Amino acid sequence: MFIETKNLLKVYGVGENEVVALNKVNIKVESGDFISIMGPSGSGKSTLLHLLSGLDMPTSGSVFYDGEDIYNTSDKELSRFRREKIGFVFQKFNLIPVLTARENIIMPLLLDKKEPDEIYLKQITDLLGISERLSHLQSELSGGQQQRVAIARALISKPDIIFADEPTGNLDSKSGSEVMELLCSIWRDMGKTLIIITHDNRIAKMAKRQFVIVDGVLSEVTV
Ligand code: ADP
Ligand code: MG
Repeated sequence: MFIETKNLLKVYGVGENEVVALNKVNIKVESGDFISIMGPSGSGKSTLLHLLSGLDMPTSGSVFYDGEDIYNTSDKELSRFRREKIGFVFQKFNLIPVLTARENIIMPLLLDKKEPDEIYLKQITDLLGISERLSHLQSELSGGQQQRVAIARALISKPDIIFADEPTGNLDSKSGSEVMELLCSIWRDMGKTLIIITHDNRIAKMAKRQFVIVDGVLSEVTV
């Protein structure tokens, strides 16, 4: 597995309102990478993650996954890429409040009319420490538990790569640390590729490769 971008450009708005959110970004992500991306608010971090994960369209430039241009295919192929190859963890969890934890976790499979692999489901919910919470609604879970449910949902399709956009941004420092520990073990023990956006220097330093983005320009920090 590898992801590679070529001169990725994203411009929002026109004329006076034009914002260059990403300015010719070139990055190669290898299988087993653990990448952190830091940058000020509005610098293009979320835009980059959305483009790498097939959630948005570039203005120009390309995103290659295993050599295939993910934006140069049909909508059907692109949504299949999103469902099968990537998992996404959001700052605000994005759980569906009327569903239980279990229903939230398996939702991506249901959308695909697939049955969950119960052994794998048990394995990931045990790892994440939420096996006893599966019948609970979002309102009955702590912030840290909600994010752990969201991580299980990101893993349920057995993707190669997990993207996380400020996954600890809505958590207190203790549950934030727990969530980071879990993401690290998903990288280390499950062998997933991990790309994480963070404002926290300590979290950034856990990564194997560190990047910064300023005004849409991405650069790798050599450590
Ligand atoms: P970050 O995640 O680093 O805070 P974003 O990637 O969300 O930054 O945004 C980068 C820039 O693009 C910002 O100036 C933001 O206002 C702008 N932007 C993001 N999304 C949109 C949108 N849908 N429409 C217009 N401008 C946007
Ligand atoms: Mg953002």
